[in-house]
Amino acid sequence: MECKNVVNALPAYLDLALNKGEEADIKGHLAQCPDCRNEALLLSSSWNALGVLESIQPSEDFRARFWARARREEKAREAQTGIFARFPLAPVLAGFLVLWMLGVAGGVRFFESRRTSSTPLDETLNRFVSPYPNDSIEKIFLEGRTPSDYHGGNV
Ligand SMILES: [Zn+2]
Repeated sequence: MECKNVVNALPAYLDLALNKGEEADIKGHLAQCPDCRNEALLLSSSWNALGVLESIQPSEDFRARFWARARREEKAREAQTGIFARFPLAPVLAGFLVLWMLGVAGGVRFFESRRTSSTPLDETLNRFVSPYPNDSIEKIFLEGRTPSDYHGGNV
């Protein structure tokens, strides 16, 4: 058997894929040919190395780090979406806040309109809201009107 053929057949030989006859031929050649024996040794050691690499299991440390990282990422996700999950009333409170702000704005507008214009409704409301009686000097002064009973004489 020629060395070239032996070397070509070595992978199959090491993989135990040859029939008994071929295997015996290679074995016989390796027993008497140092070059081919060396080639077979190199090949088998590299194959063994591959086998060892494949059989390496992830270490416990790797697993621990993996789960620690998974938990960290889960917490980060929770922090992003968790505010409404942890406080289910938050949207309701936000709604109330908006209503309250609208109410304040509406109240301010109502107050301003009452101050600038004077309608019968305002007069009526003023009667209830104003700390002064409708015909008191203070009230008249505040509204800038002339007292109805003022005739230019002594006040
Ligand atoms: Zn040989």
